[in-house]
Amino acid sequence: MLDADFFRRWMTATAASVDREADRLTALDSPIGDADHGSNLRRGFTAVAAALDEEAPDTPGAVLLLAAKQLISKVGGASGPLYGTLLRRTGKALGDAPEVSEEEFARALREGVEAVMALGGAAPGDKTMIDALLPAVDALGDSFAAARTAAEQGALATTPLQAHKGRASYLGERSIGHQDPGATSSSLLITALAEAHGE
Ligand code: ADP
Ligand code: MG
Repeated sequence: MLDADFFRRWMTATAASVDREADRLTALDSPIGDADHGSNLRRGFTAVAAALDEEAPDTPGAVLLLAAKQLISKVGGASGPLYGTLLRRTGKALGDAPEVSEEEFARALREGVEAVMALGGAAPGDKTMIDALLPAVDALGDSFAAARTAAEQGALATTPLQAHKGRASYLGERSIGHQDPGATSSSLLITALAEAHGE
């Protein structure tokens, strides 16, 4: 079973990873964006870690709702509301149970990813965070380690794609040949999830 502490560890591991990788995320956002993805997410996840420290929510759902609130209020740019929606919808789906099963979590995360697709209008292959998140959710039924591998491969596989959503889509064919920053940060999020699970 997954308890509030597991979800807190997931969020703090994500914050640490985003902090380490912020420069790389911003560099990826430079040729096909506006070079702010790393700084956007660093600001957001630093706030998430601080809020979790201060408030210590005691259910999985409450941890994710608090994290979502921070991301929505602190991250300028498209990725804030999108990641906020991912965690808010996932957290809502978990309700107020003190512990959730891995199957319940996998179902909740799928709802979260579907909410991101509804909000942003992106489909698989549009060169967005969805290209890492959806394969990860599909693989989560097997294991957390499989989800991490799927997210990493999904992020790498965005390089030859043309962007059809977000700022990178303004470049048309010139977006081809660059790895998507949001798919890359989503792979960090799922890697942190596997880490929190001890894999
Ligand atoms: P902005 O584009 O506003 O500067 P960020 O740089 O923080 O925001 O985030 C860019 C990332 O957000 C992209 O690499 C992409 O993965 C993701 N993204 C942008 N628009 C969408 C969308 N409509 N649906 C899903 N993801 C999106
Ligand atoms: Mg940007």
